[in-house]
Amino acid sequence: MRSIPLVDLQAQMQPIRREIDAAIAQVLDRGDYILGESVQRFEEEFAAYCGAAHGIGVASGTDALLLSLRAAKIGPGDEVLLPANTFIATALAVHAAGALPVLVDVDPSTFLPAPGAWETAITPRTRALIPVHLFGRLADVEALTTLANRRGLYVIEDAAQAHGARRAGRIAGSFGALGCFSFYPGKNLGCAGDGGMIVTSNDEWAAELRALRNYGSPRKYHHPISGWNSRLDTLQASILRVKLRHLDAWNRLRAEKARCYQEALTGIGDLILPEVPEAGAHVFHLYVIRSAQRDALLSHLSQQGIQAGIHYPVPIHLQGAFAYLGQTQGSFPGTECLAREILSLPMFPELDSEQLLRVTSSIRDFFDGRSA
Ligand SMILES: *Cc1c(COP(=O)(O)O)cnc(C)c1O
Repeated sequence: MRSIPLVDLQAQMQPIRREIDAAIAQVLDRGDYILGESVQRFEEEFAAYCGAAHGIGVASGTDALLLSLRAAKIGPGDEVLLPANTFIATALAVHAAGALPVLVDVDPSTFLPAPGAWETAITPRTRALIPVHLFGRLADVEALTTLANRRGLYVIEDAAQAHGARRAGRIAGSFGALGCFSFYPGKNLGCAGDGGMIVTSNDEWAAELRALRNYGSPRKYHHPISGWNSRLDTLQASILRVKLRHLDAWNRLRAEKARCYQEALTGIGDLILPEVPEAGAHVFHLYVIRSAQRDALLSHLSQQGIQAGIHYPVPIHLQGAFAYLGQTQGSFPGTECLAREILSLPMFPELDSEQLLRVTSSIRDFFDGRSA
């Protein structure tokens, strides 16, 4: 039996392959590899899609976060709050900016920090909050923005997993002062390599970011600030332009798969299924369930040729890279509980009903004790 992948990038490429080939050929014909026409067009199109005035294409989601912090003049001596339960890149970017990452524990039922938890972590050195729309679910950015405004802080959204998630007409990335995206291949909008973008409606920051990603140079061979080389590749931008046109349809398909999982898995064993908020507010980058028997369930699925994943098995505060924060096992009980119980099921727009049935039957068999 064919195995079922966690993400199937070939299935996504197949129906759009000819459009992609044509887009790549156009770049090769033009030869404008660095900051070429496709970059500018994609920046405009993606910013407009998000409802922001500017898009600045960069080399990765990690760089989008780092350069956002630098544009906001956040660095040594400053503290930046972020959820303890996120991909490590969020914390790495804060560290790379020279600021101190301050982790905020999460509520296991939402996977997100409770609003009160953010406020408790604020000190006189805090400069910014980085909400992460984890797994594709919009964080409570409206409340956070109110809190940040009251305390004179910036909200920098980590929207790397939430392209196109929306609430009340607003789209992920446009709630905060700066919105950061990754186009890593497996994200809801992914390219054929690494890529990222910052969206903002602040004209000054947009100009600063354009210089920062290009050797600190607003004008060739003039470097008023010390920038870096972190540009979105023209070839990647040309691919992303094609894929952006499919993003909403893909996100709707993901939501549909999530609904199928929800129906088939309700009431089985000790499973806790993800909360499903109002339509559009969760774009299901990942479909993450919880079980106290997670490890056994994971190996059962893997024996059946079903790839499931754990996002993330080792919390940031228990990683060697952040040992200097001085936190240990027990420091963030919500996050540690999730690391023990979470399981990401196969989730991609092309997941078909036969594959879905195999995954859900296999899970049911496990809890019925028919795991042989
Ligand atoms: C993927 C991801 C990043 C980093 O993006 P890269 O493009 O891989 O650098 C940052 N934050 C979150 C939440 C992510 O999922």
